[in-house]
Amino acid sequence: MEILFVASEVAPFSKTGGLGDVAAALPAALVAHGHAVAVVSPRYGGIDPGRAGFEPRHRAVRVRGEPTTVHVRRTGRLVHYLVEHEHFFGGRRGLYGEHGHDYPDNAERFAYLCRAALAVPAALGHRPRIVHLNDWQTALAAWLLRAEHAEDPAISAARTVFTIHNLAYQGVFRKELLPALGLPWEVFRFDAMEFHDRLNLMKAGLVFADALTTVSPRYAAEIATPEGGEGLDPLLRHRRADLHGILNGIDVRAWDPATDPALPAHFDLHRLAGKRVCKEALQREVGLPVRADVPVVAVVSRLVEQKGIDLVLAALPELLRRELQLVVLGTGRHDWEGALARAAREHPHRLAVRLGFDEPLAHRIEAGADVFLMPSRYEPCGLNQLYSLRYGTVPVVREVGGLADTVEDFDGWRRGTGFRFRDQEPKAMLVALWRALELRRDRRAWHAMVRRGMAQDFSWGRSAARYEELYDRLVG
Ligand code: ADP
Repeated sequence: MEILFVASEVAPFSKTGGLGDVAAALPAALVAHGHAVAVVSPRYGGIDPGRAGFEPRHRAVRVRGEPTTVHVRRTGRLVHYLVEHEHFFGGRRGLYGEHGHDYPDNAERFAYLCRAALAVPAALGHRPRIVHLNDWQTALAAWLLRAEHAEDPAISAARTVFTIHNLAYQGVFRKELLPALGLPWEVFRFDAMEFHDRLNLMKAGLVFADALTTVSPRYAAEIATPEGGEGLDPLLRHRRADLHGILNGIDVRAWDPATDPALPAHFDLHRLAGKRVCKEALQREVGLPVRADVPVVAVVSRLVEQKGIDLVLAALPELLRRELQLVVLGTGRHDWEGALARAAREHPHRLAVRLGFDEPLAHRIEAGADVFLMPSRYEPCGLNQLYSLRYGTVPVVREVGGLADTVEDFDGWRRGTGFRFRDQEPKAMLVALWRALELRRDRRAWHAMVRRGMAQDFSWGRSAARYEELYDRLVG
């Protein structure tokens, strides 16, 4: 089956979070199952297409009559396309914004991506039966496919899947933008893209895609409720029969403690000695005292409300009083970055903070830490808890969304892969963390838990098979 996959970020070319990882791994897994997948994303300023193995096809694709270049990279049945647009993408350093502010023309930028992606099949010889869209940036394509490609033999018969990676980001804009986006006023209705008198681009996907998915079963249920629905729960309840929760996998080759090139030593389920070396090296790298006996608790996260970083900040005095070391890697809210950096200066033996996006360091933290803390307010799937499990780092998570679907709470005896807490309260988080550190005193019980986590299988194979089933059902 041929599949056109559209995403605003695709690792390793572009990535700000889990979407980039998924847009890399799911197409690869589908190709491994015998499908042909074309992945379309923008050529942002940070990407050097030549160095990344792409070749240009000049003026190959027309967007609203204007020709544009796409860069092509073929790996067997997997083809990556990067859409060129100097003003919208090439001339920008960020993906969605800079210095904490979204670009003001994001609606125009991603409407352009949608139109370019839908023009690819006819221009470059594809006949996809499925068009798989991801998040608000690509949602408009579900409507455009019907409205602007009804006569396009390359793509008119394709069925659409829209995946919600995060319902909180909906692409909401002033309604006055409609003409500039080339959209007729008839789409500005409550059963199309209108939302509280504004234009909601995600609704184009939620309303017009043939099937909807999100990235964990628990999140699929949560977003259909008023608490988790971000104002869209009535629509999601209306489409409940078409909404499927399919857990994300992880790229088990990029995240393999037995081979990971970012690590100073390697380990696996049967030979854990290398993890001790990783811990020592991590403590040295981030400037904490090198002590095997002191537990290292880690946070790798965007520093935003979603991730519950406020709980970590509120609990910081208590955390810093205990015999533990805290390592935080992240970027996001400036006030939280400042508060963390200040605390790290005041407690250099207890707290190490790295502000920035540093993929190799994220790997070394996952490998070197004992415990991974993820107190998310909501979590569509979450990848870091899965990396943690695989790297023998015990996750302490809030019982929400994909965290609840992937981390089994310790039963006090011999079951469980981590520790969960329910209330969005610093105290509840600390109770779960103290439970973890308490278990760690019992070396055998701790290692048994570490091994149970490492033995879990979150590879993409199973998830890709669920997407395949869905595609099959859609195309009959
Ligand atoms: P989200 O997509 O909501 O940010 P996920 O847990 O699904 O959360 O995915 C986050 C991804 O981004 C992971 O691959 C994680 O390692 C990575 N990541 C987040 N912040 C950083 C950072 N500061 N440096 C390196 N990697 C990071």
